[in-house]
Amino acid sequence: MTQVNKDSKIIIVGAGVFGLSTALWLAKSGYKSVTVFDQQPYFTNSYRDGADGASADINKIIRFSYGKEIEYQSLALEASHIWDEWNQELANLKQSGEDAGLPPGLSSGDKLWFNSRMLRMSASESYGEFEKETLKTMEKEARLREKQFECRNEADIQRAQESGWGHKVDPFHRKELGRAHSAVLDSTAGFVAAGRSCLWALHLCRKSGVNRTDGSVYGIETEDSRSHSADLIIVACGGWTPTLVPEISRSLETTAGSIVTVQIPQDNQELWDRYAPENMPVFTWGMREGRGMYGFPRMEDGIVKFGYRATKWTNYDDINGKPLSVPKTAHTSKRETNIPLTALHAVKDFISEYLPELTPLGINSTRLCWYTDSIDNSFMIDHVPSRPGLMVCSGGSGHGFKFLPILGREVVKIVEGGKKNVYGEMWRWRDPKEGGKNNGLEEGVSGPRVLAKQKMASEKDWSFGGSSRL
Ligand SMILES: Cc1cc2nc3c(=O)[nH]c(=O)nc-3n(C[C@H](O)[C@H](O)[C@H](O)COP(=O)(O)OP(=O)(O)OC[C@H]3O[C@@H](n4cnc5c(N)ncnc54)[C@H](O)[C@@H]3O)c2cc1C
Repeated sequence: MTQVNKDSKIIIVGAGVFGLSTALWLAKSGYKSVTVFDQQPYFTNSYRDGADGASADINKIIRFSYGKEIEYQSLALEASHIWDEWNQELANLKQSGEDAGLPPGLSSGDKLWFNSRMLRMSASESYGEFEKETLKTMEKEARLREKQFECRNEADIQRAQESGWGHKVDPFHRKELGRAHSAVLDSTAGFVAAGRSCLWALHLCRKSGVNRTDGSVYGIETEDSRSHSADLIIVACGGWTPTLVPEISRSLETTAGSIVTVQIPQDNQELWDRYAPENMPVFTWGMREGRGMYGFPRMEDGIVKFGYRATKWTNYDDINGKPLSVPKTAHTSKRETNIPLTALHAVKDFISEYLPELTPLGINSTRLCWYTDSIDNSFMIDHVPSRPGLMVCSGGSGHGFKFLPILGREVVKIVEGGKKNVYGEMWRWRDPKEGGKNNGLEEGVSGPRVLAKQKMASEKDWSFGGSSRL
């Protein structure tokens, strides 16, 4: 492990959530020479402009429901206080009439975090194990448990109505449709505008002195063939991490979630209002029951995003003679803008059944968004064994975004070494179980999730027709 001091030169490769949060907290902790590199245009941080890391997305869910994992629940709660502060700081900038050098794409008064509430729907008649464990773990933080409303419990429905959330208990009219509506409304949860939040973190990094510099011991080479050396290099490259640090490819796998959007026209006032964050919660349906569906209220531009993660796809390529799953997006050399037909059908079926008013609009876009799954879905943040001066900071496993404001605080502790705390232990370097289950990573090229084995959807599949198959 490399010993660092406040003058050490530190390079962070990757300006997604993991890289930005690390840079911010290193700078806040007094490190004077922190430089962030990214291969994509993270200064605008929009996937539309070519930034297509997992972080450069429209929106991401902020949730506190973590089954038995109280450590993540608590950290998410801590992060939520900073999300509140960040909203307030942007509102204050607006009030004082200052834009204070905000990056393009971000304006004073913009909101980053929307407390739209979140509806966790089971696809079956009863709660799954994860939901039961979530409610139990939340009891350990009483104020959090009080803010959960069980949608089949009359007293809770009454409580939700009194709190002003009655209209979010069953926005899909599942009860009218004769469904069990086994669900919990979390009034503390919601979503963040993802790319915009990264821009804010970038702005804070710059204000705190994160910069470009040259140093002396190890280095990276950028596309312009320039060498940049440093005492410590932190690779925070999301789905690209296993390609760059081959040792970690035994424990991290790059997989894709399927994203579908629908555009609500602004002149359709009824739909515009129905899908506003004030009226529509973030929702999940059958998340751990093989359905893996989630969706968001509309954004300011009318985009409603749906995600399907029942199957996370892999994309194996030959990387230096070894098969590794790598991102395939609208901006990679082997381009992909479609998603597997299975995923598109699942989203269309959900919309047809529960949100039929959207079907005349058809689908607006599809995209693959790349996770970095670890063997146990916990992050991987540690020094690389036998490679002094090199750390990895990755393994977001589909739930890292909410920690943007706080993750770096824990990364700094890991950078500095010493006795590991609970997060340092959870996120330590871990090897896969030999011959055992490793979160699907053991399937490799022969697995059923390989993208090349899927029938891909195309634009001709975007309109709705036929009957629902739920
Ligand atoms: C479909 C999907 C849905 C998700 N939903 C949620 C959610 O609702 N809530 C939540 O909390 N989390 C969610 N997550 C997880 C969250 O988005 C990730 O954990 C987080 O964004 C990962 O950030 P990262 O910095 O590790 O990676 P990324 O965001 O992928 O960033 C990696 C960066 O590294 C750069 N890079 C790669 N290679 C190089 C190189 N050679 N040189 C320089 N730069 C390089 C890339 O350009 C990129 O900018 C979701 C993830 C996905 C995929």
